[in-house]
Amino acid sequence: MHKHHSALGLATALQPVQPVTLIRPHAARRAARFFAEKFPGRSFYAVKANPSAELIRLLWEEGVTHYDVASIVEVRLVATTLPEATLAFMNPVKAEEVIREAYFEHGVRIFSLDSMEELEKIRRATDGAEDLSLCVRLRVSSEFSELSLASKFGIEAHEAADLLMATRQFADALGICFHVGSQAMTPMAYVKAMEQARAAIVAAGVTVDIIDVGGGFPSCYPGREAYDLQPYFDAIHRAYESLPISYSAELWCEPGRALSAEYSSLIVRVERRRGNELYINDGAYGALFDAAHVDWRFPVQLLRDKASRAQDLGFSFYGPTCDDSDFMAGPFMLPADIQPGDYIEIGMLGAYGCAMRTQFNGFGNGATHVVTDEPMATLYGDIALEAERPAATVLKL
Ligand SMILES: *Cc1c(COP(=O)(O)O)cnc(C)c1O
Repeated sequence: MHKHHSALGLATALQPVQPVTLIRPHAARRAARFFAEKFPGRSFYAVKANPSAELIRLLWEEGVTHYDVASIVEVRLVATTLPEATLAFMNPVKAEEVIREAYFEHGVRIFSLDSMEELEKIRRATDGAEDLSLCVRLRVSSEFSELSLASKFGIEAHEAADLLMATRQFADALGICFHVGSQAMTPMAYVKAMEQARAAIVAAGVTVDIIDVGGGFPSCYPGREAYDLQPYFDAIHRAYESLPISYSAELWCEPGRALSAEYSSLIVRVERRRGNELYINDGAYGALFDAAHVDWRFPVQLLRDKASRAQDLGFSFYGPTCDDSDFMAGPFMLPADIQPGDYIEIGMLGAYGCAMRTQFNGFGNGATHVVTDEPMATLYGDIALEAERPAATVLKL
């Protein structure tokens, strides 16, 4: 990997024909340090947001030493990259063979579940192990989040008593976990979910050792800006302190997006303009899956040596494949005089961007470069690293 100072400098110097992934290790370090220092409990990085081994190592170095994994490939990746790391296997539906490999070959001791069947599977696959931390996944509302995670997994709090009691019998440590949905726009999401956790604990009358509030911590996107995670941490801490749980209980969280979004962005080239539609060289089958399928607005900026003086206009994007659905509606705000040959930086693709790429239609093979400039927006501008860098600015999105 080559190192450049900035996205603009790189685009000007290299004039890349393929899309280029930019990596900002300092941004990921800052995010990790923030969680390690300020979250009032333990942070598990949710690997699915971006399973890059370099990123996982950076997070480790800054104090995020626990990882939420959801597939055996993620288990193997983290176990080989960081043999000392603690893994939590938080997919509530797993193959028995996979549980067995995770437990016996990779030392995984933390598992989630949301049914009696899964509890039985874990019991069989671990040969009745007595050293497990088992977290029952509650279904909670996604009403405060931009991306729902409320239908696939989780048991309703008022139906969880039997499962909590059965899990208690078998678990060394009993946990309750949930996910409020991704990009939760208010701390209230967690407060409401903790009320559900309280109801489940009271109804089951069990001693609970772990409260895991999951992911959902927001990053900065146009129209969905988050400015500060501290109020989330404060609200979670207060709600946690009031729960009827064991004196020695632990508080956990599983941030994916908030730890990885600022780590990567993308430089794309405009290949054609048709009115307000720009044909660019990455898209729905590349790093822009969420822009196409869940209408996610990533921040964009034109990379031109001499800044454009034209007013911003709303554009939509077509990706490079020959597929009509390779379309990102936007609107993405860019100067009205943008034209073929121009380069655009698309920000915040470290989470659920780079991780979603496919090779469909022969696209998806760009280079990766490290840059040292600031991400297009940041939540962590106040976090100092050993090597001081200029204070981050939150750009107009
Ligand atoms: C996806 C996922 C996360 C991460 O969610 P973010 O919204 O990216 O923070 C955490 N925990 C579980 C169980 C997940 O499935």
